[in-house]
Amino acid sequence: MKKLTAILFLTVVGLVVAQNNNGLPASAQQAMNSIDPEKIRATVKYLSDDSLQGRGTGQKGGDMAADWIAQQFKSYGLQPAGDNNSFFQNVKFYGIRTDQQKTQFVFVPKSGAPINLKFAQDYVATDETHSPQSQIDAPLVYVGYGINAPEYKWDDYKGADLKGKVLLMLVNEPPSDDPNFFKGKALTYYGRWTYKYEEAARRGAAGVILIHKTEMASYGWEVVRNSWGGESSFLQEEKEPKLKSAGWIQLEVARKLAQAAGMDLDTMMKDATSRNFKPVELPVRVKATIVSNVRSFSSRNVIGKVVGSDPKLRDQAVLYTAHYDHLGIHPDEPGDNIYNGAADNATGCGIVLELARAFAGAAQKPKRTVLLAAVTAEEQGLLGSKYLGQHPPIPARNISLDLNYDDVQPLGEPQQVVVSGAERTTTYPLVRKVAKDFELSIQPDDRPEAGHYYRSDHFSLARVGIPSFSVNEGALFKGHDLAWGENKEKDYVANRYHQPSDEYRPEMDFTGDATVARFGFALGWQAAEQPQLAGWQPGDEFEKARKNSRAKSGF
Ligand SMILES: [Zn+2]
Repeated sequence: MKKLTAILFLTVVGLVVAQNNNGLPASAQQAMNSIDPEKIRATVKYLSDDSLQGRGTGQKGGDMAADWIAQQFKSYGLQPAGDNNSFFQNVKFYGIRTDQQKTQFVFVPKSGAPINLKFAQDYVATDETHSPQSQIDAPLVYVGYGINAPEYKWDDYKGADLKGKVLLMLVNEPPSDDPNFFKGKALTYYGRWTYKYEEAARRGAAGVILIHKTEMASYGWEVVRNSWGGESSFLQEEKEPKLKSAGWIQLEVARKLAQAAGMDLDTMMKDATSRNFKPVELPVRVKATIVSNVRSFSSRNVIGKVVGSDPKLRDQAVLYTAHYDHLGIHPDEPGDNIYNGAADNATGCGIVLELARAFAGAAQKPKRTVLLAAVTAEEQGLLGSKYLGQHPPIPARNISLDLNYDDVQPLGEPQQVVVSGAERTTTYPLVRKVAKDFELSIQPDDRPEAGHYYRSDHFSLARVGIPSFSVNEGALFKGHDLAWGENKEKDYVANRYHQPSDEYRPEMDFTGDATVARFGFALGWQAAEQPQLAGWQPGDEFEKARKNSRAKSGF
């Protein structure tokens, strides 16, 4: 009888616990429930107001946003986790704009007429060395995909000496459906142009010319032209080698160039898909003068923390990130020229601020410390988060997880969550459990070949080994079919994404933003309580970075 009572009692307690806390203690549950969609609305409304001028990096509006976010952190009771016991981490940049009039770029074949290129129309180039003028007079070497990936037994370079030379290469990676070879259809980091510039610079090359082919790049020439036509930003303190000319050429120009070299571009492209490919020096020299306008400026990451309750584990952390910068104001453009960035990414800031308020307000804190960062210069190439990854307030090896929020559409109550990349980490079983607790299904990445994983701030943290991914809504919303959500997404991409029309509207519904915030709260809280730090699945491309950072700690 006694036994039976005990069993009954345990069962009842067990049920109560299971129903109420989703694995969270009551105080955490209470804190999580305090996350308020209307507070997210207030943040979005404020940060995307015209008075903040589109929060451009290095512009007044960006600085106003950083100041305001720090004030919010402070008012919630967060502790500062930036430089010198402040909420700010100062980041110095070079802004580099190629002078399109003074810059010259010519292909000089051994025989035949030189090919003079027109900036923007035929090619684009940025001098990454931040020198006002660079000269190139160098041989041109075709290096296929320009990839060295030992884990896939792929090396386009074959030990060739490329010092001081200009490398002609393809974007993307060797095509494959085999998940064990460059992850099949999915794009790995090796396929991104950033990797290709970095790898070539490490090999001492003077420049890189990427051949633009729309299907291979997954975006058109106008995207390349617009991105390289304006100012590009670089972190000042980067010590990695840089290229005098990091650029692209149009497909048709590449055809002409191949012809002038007595070769055929289609054959060259086909040759590159073989493991036996070797670099080919073309009978062509590149003669270029790159003239740049270089300016120096700074911007700030805003970082706060909620210190963990466990005296040992509080030296470790769970991190939340969202970029606060957007594209700023473009004074030369007629009409509305303020890029307000309401969805991108005032929404993510609203979510991180609510997470900050909830964690700071929790009666009991999780064992590990919670770091919250609103980062700058995402739109400049994930630079604020890159700096944060290289200067984390708690060593990267001791950060269990980064959950990033970027562009969370205010469309109502989601039934799916997107956590692409989570499956690559050891946190995935927990992610699935939390999704189940929230009655959210996990929506798979519908375009892995576009390489979205490498295009938001979590990637900067992954590069230093921290298991990281973005949390977002899927396309299925309560009260609607899938097509409705997909159409909303298409409409956004076509009519508002990276345009001045990404503005606050009163009919926006922030219910779903609050849902993914609570989801991230529950996930982060439990990750902060787990006995082990999270890691990457064996063989993942970021596993090495994690191991290296852990090795330094003596763990
Ligand atoms: Zn964004």
